[in-house]
Amino acid sequence: MGEKAICQRGYAKINLALDVRGLREDGYHEVAMIMQTVKLWDEVTAERVDPAEAGPDCPPITVECNLPYVPRDERNLAWKAAALFRERTGITEPVRLRIYKKIPVSAGLAGGSADAAAALKAMNLLFGAHLPMQKLIELGAEIGSDVPFCLIGGTCLATGRGEIVERIRPLPEATVVLVKPDFGISTPWAYQQFEEDKVTRRPDLPAMQKAIAQRDWDGIAAQMVNLLEPPVLKEHPILNHIKNDLLDKGATAVLMSGSGPTVYGIFAEEKSSSKAYKFMKKYYGSRYTVLERELYQPGGRRPAP
Ligand code: ATP
Repeated sequence: MGEKAICQRGYAKINLALDVRGLREDGYHEVAMIMQTVKLWDEVTAERVDPAEAGPDCPPITVECNLPYVPRDERNLAWKAAALFRERTGITEPVRLRIYKKIPVSAGLAGGSADAAAALKAMNLLFGAHLPMQKLIELGAEIGSDVPFCLIGGTCLATGRGEIVERIRPLPEATVVLVKPDFGISTPWAYQQFEEDKVTRRPDLPAMQKAIAQRDWDGIAAQMVNLLEPPVLKEHPILNHIKNDLLDKGATAVLMSGSGPTVYGIFAEEKSSSKAYKFMKKYYGSRYTVLERELYQPGGRRPAP
């Protein structure tokens, strides 16, 4: 019968750049983003349900989570992943997903998508389905735009509505200090606020990729632009204060991730983030989540294929 349970990690992401390139016919915005995995993860355990327990009323998918306010039904992206996986593989055995969340929720860090990616990988192993990565990526794209990136990870260029993902040269080693305020931002709201004619500067993604390849931090920092940031900053001026404090404490560059509200300061390899982390933790830590994490390249720092 094989393993009874398999645990997989789902890692958080930050956006190094986010360009919005218009509204598509399907209602999504066309985007181009450079994404980076951070060493901050949720754990998703897929578990077979004991046949003695699995009576006729046993639900096919059960979700448990350490955070009470995260939905455990079909609104949960890991639940959606399990349902799609079962539908496409024809596996009928019931499954229990235990989610241990460390990634802040509604933060712009793709926590739900990370859980969906981890659930797909865990179920693929648990039930011996042997779906190739490409197939998991296709399923992931049906669940949510960020799921394919969460399956691949590292440093990537994401286009389309975010689901077309290509690994690029890895970002040089760095540490990030992340600050997640105590309010959430709805992703649809952030996109609705976007106004094409108010854009003063777009990120130049080829220039950023060139700077990454040359390990040129000034060039990388110059392209760290997120077009969803201005309206969110206007609505929540505290985010500007956080960015300025991170810069004051020596960050190489600062940006809001995704649709926010998490803002981060990135500290290039030779710079220490510990002074900034201590300051931010002391000043903001009683109300906000403040974390210090390294970047993460799955499989090590191998060059792009
Ligand atoms: P993104 O960066 O992809 O926009 P996010 O980090 O802003 O995502 P999530 O943490 O994924 O946001 O949560 C967004 C919403 O999704 C929340 O309202 C939450 O209730 C719901 N949600 C669904 N599944 C999950 C999950 N597994 N973990 C956390 N939230 C989830």
